[in-house]
Amino acid sequence: MSQAKVNLLGMSPTKMEAFFAQLGEKPFRARQLLKWIHQRGVINFDDMTDMSKSLRAKLAEVAEIRPPEMLSQADSKDGTRKWIIRVGEDSMVEAVYIPEGERGTLCVSSQVGCSLDCSFCSTGKQGFQRDLTASEIIGQVWLANESFDSFGLTKSRAVTNVVMMGMGEPLLNFDNVVDAMTLMMDDNAYGISKRRVTLSTSGVVPALDKLAEVSDASLAISLHAPTDELRNTLVPVNKKYPIAELLRSAQDYIGGQSDKRRTVTVEYTLIAGINDQPEHAQQLATLLTDFPCKINLIPFNPFPGSDYQRPSKNAVQRFWESLNRAGFVVTVRKTRGDDIDGACGQLVGNFKDKTRRSERYKKRIESGDEQVVKFVG
Ligand code: SAH
Ligand code: SF4
Repeated sequence: MSQAKVNLLGMSPTKMEAFFAQLGEKPFRARQLLKWIHQRGVINFDDMTDMSKSLRAKLAEVAEIRPPEMLSQADSKDGTRKWIIRVGEDSMVEAVYIPEGERGTLCVSSQVGCSLDCSFCSTGKQGFQRDLTASEIIGQVWLANESFDSFGLTKSRAVTNVVMMGMGEPLLNFDNVVDAMTLMMDDNAYGISKRRVTLSTSGVVPALDKLAEVSDASLAISLHAPTDELRNTLVPVNKKYPIAELLRSAQDYIGGQSDKRRTVTVEYTLIAGINDQPEHAQQLATLLTDFPCKINLIPFNPFPGSDYQRPSKNAVQRFWESLNRAGFVVTVRKTRGDDIDGACGQLVGNFKDKTRRSERYKKRIESGDEQVVKFVG
């Protein structure tokens, strides 16, 4: 019986060395292969000219380099580019690229759907379907660089920053996310600095404690409320791991890193009448008084089936001012359009009405109506 070939795209540097050792090859082969795949975009062993013919044949026998299948790609007027990626018969995820000046930020998905069911999140409403493999996660970075034709350039790669803020909770797909983030930061692969690779979590505290032992990527926590009472209603995982534990874990995470100036990004989705009132801003300022952070306010992005509303510009401004006066660094995330509920899992992992939906999607993209992606810079 022939065995399935191993996909080398998502293999971490350490695992790649072990893989070559099994073939009786030296560790430097792993570095060579990583460079071919992630720096030059080469996925055909035959094109890897610094490897012997016999090694290439051996590799082709047991392994493959298979990027995920891109179903569609859409450009918005503001330069945002969005891919819908098929990761199984009925499963799709999305990745979004947001250019801003010198920076190109790629928002990457980690799961199809999500089990944590935050009340304001369309991905949560879909439920959980499955974890993405490390190949499917790093494959999003690979596809983005490929689509901008930016392989082979040493300095000006299209993707300069990665945020794990697409579909899914990255800490619930721990090993695959860690392997993919390792590749993002590895000098033989994408070589992105740890300040520019950010994991966003809604607060799976034991996994965050564990992350500190294996990663020094940047951290964002999805807080969204200043009290447990309110957060319990928005982010159900809070009932298991309340705010104090999350802040403790996040502080330990950055405390353990060598750069003592590092901060945590606190994400706060502003929902009209729910968590955007002046008292919430004051409570938040008090809660975060001694917490090393910057705050990112995200005006709620509506999606079909949700009763929540986005606050008015004035309400956002007032909230911002209140925190700013209290001495915090506060940014408001720009929404790149809002006529499709893009960001957090606009595309459903498992369509019940899949055909109709994806047909509608295709039409929208073909008609050039895809101005907009909810993701945000
Ligand atoms: N699961 C992780 C990462 C994915 S969600 C997390 O929750 O952090 C990425 C960010 O988008 C989170 O801060 C999330 O709260 C926010 N988000 C989700 N749905 C949103 C919506 N409808 N409007 C605005 N922000 C949303
Ligand atoms: Fe999952 Fe994050 Fe959405 Fe919550 S906000 S349901 S954790 S993807």
